[in-house]
Amino acid sequence: MKHPGIVKLGKYASKIALSIHFPLGWIVKPTLYKQFVGGETLEDTTKSINYLRPFNVKSTLDYSAESVKTPKGIQATFEETIRSIDFAKSNPNIAYAVFKPSTLTRDDLFAKASEKREELTIEEIKEYREFKERFMALCKRAYDNNVRILVDAEDYCFQDAIDDLTDEAMRLYNKERPIVFATLQMYRHDRMPYLRRIYDDAVEKGYYPGIKFVRGAYMEEERIRAALMGYPDPICKDKKATDENFDAGVQFVVEHIDRMELFMGTHNEESNYKLAALIDRLNLKKNDPRIYFSQLLGMSDNISFNLAHAGYNVTKYVPYAKVRDVLPYLLRRAEENTSVAGQTGRELRMLKIEMERRKKK
Ligand SMILES: Cc1cc2nc3c(=O)[nH]c(=O)nc-3n(C[C@H](O)[C@H](O)[C@H](O)COP(=O)(O)OP(=O)(O)OC[C@H]3O[C@@H](n4cnc5c(N)ncnc54)[C@H](O)[C@@H]3O)c2cc1C
Repeated sequence: MKHPGIVKLGKYASKIALSIHFPLGWIVKPTLYKQFVGGETLEDTTKSINYLRPFNVKSTLDYSAESVKTPKGIQATFEETIRSIDFAKSNPNIAYAVFKPSTLTRDDLFAKASEKREELTIEEIKEYREFKERFMALCKRAYDNNVRILVDAEDYCFQDAIDDLTDEAMRLYNKERPIVFATLQMYRHDRMPYLRRIYDDAVEKGYYPGIKFVRGAYMEEERIRAALMGYPDPICKDKKATDENFDAGVQFVVEHIDRMELFMGTHNEESNYKLAALIDRLNLKKNDPRIYFSQLLGMSDNISFNLAHAGYNVTKYVPYAKVRDVLPYLLRRAEENTSVAGQTGRELRMLKIEMERRKKK
């Protein structure tokens, strides 16, 4: 991952390998998969759950099969996500359930329903309705089990549809407490007005939104697509603007914590420090059940374990799925970690310093 060239090559090579059904397990399983994935099945994740538990770090089991888009594959993903919600109910070490909406339908249909809904054919309207039923069924299952569920954010071309469905689900299932959580990618410059709209709507209609903040994982593709299709770039002009937007969103939710809950997903140390400081400043308890910090399995253990040790609520996303199905997720992690400023670079530097310190002792 230190070599961007290898990661880029790996990305294209793996796309070709997937399309011709070339086996990839032998190279991916002992490397990226071992680092970032909890196993192939729900049962396999027990190992990660038990590893995290003694450090007071909870798990959020994420069925990450992103490349199975046949009707049979979609149905299997839906059923597996239902299983993961039921599993979360019965296990106190699991903090949230989660799903990625695009795994429940075809990409081209999803993009069309999101961006050009009026152009859907009768057949497509029917297929989209089936997708909506699956989406709502997951939220209802979470509600019936009293398990909080995070709706992941995705590519810009899907996000309007995801937002509409999530808003609808929050109005339905968050009447007593936040069950359904919307994810806001703060690299988008339109997310603060959206957050305020959610808040105003919740006050008016009497429900409790759950808000998950991330910076966003698709920046390069989004900029390219916007330029190609000729619409304004939806991403903040630079990293500083994204960071400020992220901070503003987190602060807004914490200041309105009587109405909303917060899930903050980031490996950025400063963002984690800032939220900890904000909790202190507002005299909230460190382990206020309405506020969770979160990192991905295999990344930023220094942040997760230190926060948990200090008494804050922490949960790790624990992805699970078969090697070839989880590949898009792994490639995003590999890309995220290539730059010098990337998290793995930072972590390796810290590990080296600590090893040197211990040698000198
Ligand atoms: C628990 C958890 C759940 C997640 N769920 C999702 C999800 O549902 N959807 C999703 O899209 N991502 C998700 N992510 C990934 C996340 O969006 C980021 O890609 C990743 O965490 C890196 O951002 P950071 O805040 O950790 O770190 P940082 O290193 O501080 O930030 C890197 C991020 O900053 C932004 N950025 C970088 N350069 C620029 C620039 N020039 N201009 C504007 N912005 C810039 C990009 O978003 C980039 O990914 C999740 C991450 C975690 C930890």
